[in-house]
Amino acid sequence: MNRHQNYDTIVIGGGPAGSTVATLVAQHGYRVLLLERETEPHFKIGESLIPATYWTFKRLGMLEKLRASHFPQKYSVQFYSRTGKASSPFYFFQTNPHESAVTWQVLRSEFDQMLLDNAKEKGVEVRRGVRVREVLFERDRAVGVVVQNVDRQAREPAPTVDAGNSSPLLKIVANLRETLSAPVIVDSTGQRSLIGRQLNLNTTEPNLKMASLFTHYKGGHRDEGIDEGATLILHTEEKDSWFWSIPLPYNRTSVGVVGQLDYLLQSRREANGKLNVQKIFTEELAKCAPLKHRLDGAKQLFPIQTTKDFSYRASRIAGNNWVLVGDAFGFLDPVYSTGLFLALKSGEMAADAIVEAFEKNDFSESQLGSFGPAFVKGMEAFRKLVYAFYTKEFSFAQFLSQYPEHQGGIIDILSGDVFRKDVTHIFPAMAEMCSLPPEVPLG
Ligand SMILES: Cc1cc2nc3c(=O)[nH]c(=O)nc-3n(C[C@H](O)[C@H](O)[C@H](O)COP(=O)(O)OP(=O)(O)OC[C@H]3O[C@@H](n4cnc5c(N)ncnc54)[C@H](O)[C@@H]3O)c2cc1C
Repeated sequence: MNRHQNYDTIVIGGGPAGSTVATLVAQHGYRVLLLERETEPHFKIGESLIPATYWTFKRLGMLEKLRASHFPQKYSVQFYSRTGKASSPFYFFQTNPHESAVTWQVLRSEFDQMLLDNAKEKGVEVRRGVRVREVLFERDRAVGVVVQNVDRQAREPAPTVDAGNSSPLLKIVANLRETLSAPVIVDSTGQRSLIGRQLNLNTTEPNLKMASLFTHYKGGHRDEGIDEGATLILHTEEKDSWFWSIPLPYNRTSVGVVGQLDYLLQSRREANGKLNVQKIFTEELAKCAPLKHRLDGAKQLFPIQTTKDFSYRASRIAGNNWVLVGDAFGFLDPVYSTGLFLALKSGEMAADAIVEAFEKNDFSESQLGSFGPAFVKGMEAFRKLVYAFYTKEFSFAQFLSQYPEHQGGIIDILSGDVFRKDVTHIFPAMAEMCSLPPEVPLG
């Protein structure tokens, strides 16, 4: 340990949640340090935004930058049934005749860097290549972090954003450790969930034990006009899995399949115990005719990537002198593209609680976590819709033919309008067609 340095807030992790909270706290004149372990922009999955992100982008001063970007515009999401029948697109402007109804499909290496650059412009000190090893506690208070520098030259393999390398191995060569302190420590380490693991806060969703296999394609068929940038969600024949298709810049399409962990991976081990994820992906794609046709002649750009067990939540959102934001607090499921929105929204709500904490000189759990109940209420609306999606007997088409009056409520949730509007009125009717989970309050 060789140096002490003081800040008002230390943010661990430079993804969308971390950049958001850091920027909005720094805009109030506080000294904010953001630590990101990756030395350079890198491939990440999670590329489709939903419209309600507009309001956080507005506060961040990001709207002009996104408008000027080459990211495809997204007006809608469209579902394909297991028989290959397409629903009408759910256009977000149907319930929201405002420019916020149009959002973007983003290449994460570029998008995350735009948010970090914006944070720097707004006064955040951003340090890349710094890994936080541990959050330090004195009794129940977070008091600082232990950091270690990661050498830029020591990456394996070389980072080629275009090749889509997923989190290349980082070798720690400079074994210099230092401690840094601040009255507020924000954990935005994504699924690494640093504080959640240190304090053993995380519980997985028992009914959402999922896995996902994904890659990018170049070429392939896209619809025209305002449908060109749509997210497609397509069930496979037996409804055992589903695919996303997300159009990206450079004529790329992100394609991924999601299914129960047992179905997609565990039961598909070869005789030698190994998994051939390319074979599994190809087998699933063969069960999804509309997507297979769209990808005719398209070129797969990099080997299939895998992730699993991504649905979990922490029992607390804050403690004395610490806060969790984004995936570090929890992640639901990729199906409605809510991850980035919840990362941005929790970053925004946490920033407001932190600024208020400085004004009141109160860094207690109740102050820093004051946004928790409202945030969890919004997250629960998405969670219910996720459970409906995974109920084999449930379909949106059937639900809306029985309850057409709820079309607007569904679009509101798909748009992310769960904090500004009360969307809960659709759930009693939905509960007649599928079993919805009870809400899990914060501990
Ligand atoms: C299969 C799949 C598909 C998805 N698709 C979508 C989608 O289409 N749309 C969508 O909105 N969401 C999607 N998501 C979710 C989305 O990717 C995440 O919700 C989002 O990235 C969360 O942002 P974050 O800032 O919380 O975390 P991250 O983006 O993961 O950022 C965390 C950052 O912290 C850094 N870090 C970690 N540990 C340390 C440490 N110890 N020290 C310093 N830095 C550290 C990491 O390098 C990283 O940059 C998907 C998720 C999955 C699993």
